[in-house]
Amino acid sequence: MFAYEESLPHVDLAFTDRQGGVSTGPWASLNLAASNGDDEDSVRRNVAAAVQALGGDPAEAWLMRQVHGAEVHVVDGAPDTVPPEADALVTARPGAVLVVRVADCLPIVLADDEARVVGVAHAGRRGVVLDVAAATAEAMRDLGARQISAWIGPRICGRCYEVPEEMRGEVAARLPVAWAETTWGTPALDLAAAAAEQLEKVGVSVHDLASEHAVCTYEDEERYFSYRRQGEKSGRLGGLVRIRP
Ligand SMILES: [Zn+2]
Repeated sequence: MFAYEESLPHVDLAFTDRQGGVSTGPWASLNLAASNGDDEDSVRRNVAAAVQALGGDPAEAWLMRQVHGAEVHVVDGAPDTVPPEADALVTARPGAVLVVRVADCLPIVLADDEARVVGVAHAGRRGVVLDVAAATAEAMRDLGARQISAWIGPRICGRCYEVPEEMRGEVAARLPVAWAETTWGTPALDLAAAAAEQLEKVGVSVHDLASEHAVCTYEDEERYFSYRRQGEKSGRLGGLVRIRP
C-alpha cells in the first residue's frame, strides 16, 4: 500500500506503491486514476483504501485534473464533484486529504507541521521548468506556513529518464543540476535534483525519499507503475497528506 509513510505531530503523509488495490491487468493493483482506461469504480475503491490507510475519510479526498502546469488550488471546503484543474493543492483545513497522482513524474508532499499547512504538487518535466514546487511553497506561506519541509516520492531516476539531446540542453540551460545521462549512455534529465534545488532556493528543506532509498519507478516493476515502461495504460501512484483533525 505505502512505499513510505510518516506521521508528524499534526500531519500524516504517505506515498503509495502499486500493491494492495483491486485493479487488474496493467493497473494491478492499487491504481489511483481512471484516465488510463481502468474501471472507475475500482479506482474509486483504490483511492478510498489509500485515504483510509492514512487515517482519512474518503469523502474528504481532494484529487486534481493535472495538466503539467503550475496552477495551485487552495482547498478550503469539502471536495467539489469535479476535481479542480491544477497541478498543486494546498490547505490549512484539518481532515482534508490532498492527493497527487503520478507515473514517473515527481510526487511532492509539503508540510509545515507546526503551522498546520500542507500541500502536494505534481512535477514532470514541464512542471519543473515552470517551478510548480516553489509556487506550491509560496501558496502555503500565504496560508501561514513558515518552516516548510518537502518529501519527493517514487519517480523515474535520472539514470533512466532518457530525453532527446536538444531537450536535455534546453532544460539544463535553465537548471544545470538536471543534466544527466542514462546508464546506457544517452541524454537524460534528473528532475528530482532540479526540484530539490528549486525548493531549497525558497527555503524549503527537502527529503528526496527516492534518492535516499534508491527507488526508481522505471526499474522496479513489481512495486511501482511507470509510464515509460507501461505506456498509456500505466497505473498511477499517489502522494497523500492531511492535517489530523
Ligand atoms: Zn532508474
